[in-house]
Amino acid sequence: METLSVRCNHCGAPLQVSGSTRFVTCQFCHSSLEVKRTDTSIFTEEVAKIAQNTGKMAESLEVITLQNEIERLDRENAPEVAATQAKQLPAGAKVAGGLIGMIMMLLFTSFGLFFAISSSRMGAPFIFQLFGGGFALIGIIALVSIISKAVSSSTKIGEVSSYETRRAALVQKLAALAEK
Ligand SMILES: [Zn+2]
Repeated sequence: METLSVRCNHCGAPLQVSGSTRFVTCQFCHSSLEVKRTDTSIFTEEVAKIAQNTGKMAESLEVITLQNEIERLDRENAPEVAATQAKQLPAGAKVAGGLIGMIMMLLFTSFGLFFAISSSRMGAPFIFQLFGGGFALIGIIALVSIISKAVSSSTKIGEVSSYETRRAALVQKLAALAEK
C-alpha cells in the first residue's frame, strides 16, 4: 500500500498516511486532520478548525440577517406603533365609549323614524316627516362611522401586536446566538 508523508497542520510533525486516507489524527498533538490533495501537493487541515470557522461564519451571517430583519420591522412599523401608542386609551374605556355611542345613535335613529312615521299618520305637514327622516339618516351615518372606526382601530392594534410578537421572536433568536 502506498504511503505518503504529510505534515500535521497543527504542530508540524511528520505523518504517514495511505493513499486513500481522508482523515487522520496526529500522533503528537492529537489534532483531527483532513488530508487534502491537489494535483501537485498533499497537505492537512485541522477538522475542528474548519468546523469552527464555518460555524462562526454561519452564526455571524445569521446575526446580521436577524439584526437587519429587526431594523426592517422597526422601520416599517414605527408610524403605526407611534400612532397606536399615542391614542391608546384603556381598551375597556374605548369599548364602553363605542357602545354608548352606538346606543345613542340607535336611539337617535329610532326617534327620527318614530317622529317621521307618527307625523305622517297624524297627517302633519310633510316637513315633519322630512325632519324625522333627516334625524334617522344622521343617526345611521353616525352609527356606521362609529362601527367602522372600531373595526379599523382593532385592526391597527392587531397589526402592532403581531409586529411586537415577531420582533420579540427575532430578539430571542439573537439572544440565543449571542449566548453560544
Ligand atoms: Zn500534530
